[in-house]
Amino acid sequence: MIRLERVGKTFDGPGSSFTAVRDVSMTVGQGRFVGLVGPSGCGKSTLLGIIAGLIPSTAGRIELHGRAVAGVPPDIGYLFQRDALLPWKTVFENVALPLLIRRVPAAEVGERARRWITRVGLAGFERYYPHQLSGGMRKRVSLATTLIYEPTVLLMDEPFSALDVQTRNLMENELLELWAETRNTVLFVTHDLEEAIALSDEVVVLTASPGRIKASYTIGLPRPRNVVEIRFLAEFTRLYEQIWKDLRDEVQASYAFTRA
Ligand code: ADP
Ligand code: MG
Repeated sequence: MIRLERVGKTFDGPGSSFTAVRDVSMTVGQGRFVGLVGPSGCGKSTLLGIIAGLIPSTAGRIELHGRAVAGVPPDIGYLFQRDALLPWKTVFENVALPLLIRRVPAAEVGERARRWITRVGLAGFERYYPHQLSGGMRKRVSLATTLIYEPTVLLMDEPFSALDVQTRNLMENELLELWAETRNTVLFVTHDLEEAIALSDEVVVLTASPGRIKASYTIGLPRPRNVVEIRFLAEFTRLYEQIWKDLRDEVQASYAFTRA
């Protein structure tokens, strides 16, 4: 479970300071899938970095499973838009690496790496290098490298936004299938409202910079979901219209701000 209490972040520069996130309080319950949307530059990545222990907050309190976050928690998984794969290592070596770092016995490492490579649909590609794979396949490898150490909390920062739309929909469906089995607590950041609604149990809207919480919506759409077909439901359209009204103002505010 993730709990934020009045979290804020001000970056201090020479002679000036900039507040990226202000007064954010929210809870992501155990096993929930929460989507965080907001215009570009509103502080989404900063907030995720704070929860991951990668960026020190300057205000408020962050708790994971009831304990204050100090440093990078060991059972947190983090997936970025850019692949964090090592280009000189094979698929197998990339997937195995997080376990080797955690000093898991070698026999177990091999078995778990093979199992995860199969689970993300890459059996047969163990000896390939990242540059020999498509964008979608590299994303699958990234998912395996993150899920193999069984994090209880998964933080995802626009992980699929660089993919073409068909590959992206495939990956979203696969993520939901994996999540149905692992039931991690997921906080999924995106600027794409459709993606957030299709995936999440709850969608939280952030304001334009500095990011604050504007509203939060429960997404009661049935599961299991197919992210493409769920868009045809009347309830999906209703939710989209309702949340877009909140988001639209923030996107416009953000646009006006960056043009200034
Ligand atoms: P988002 O992910 O929502 O697009 P970010 O969290 O990346 O937004 O950035 C929010 C704001 O904080 C941006 O205006 C960005 O320029 C600023 N920012 C991010 N990191 C730093 C930093 N290290 N120093 C100063 N400003 C930063
Ligand atoms: Mg970002």
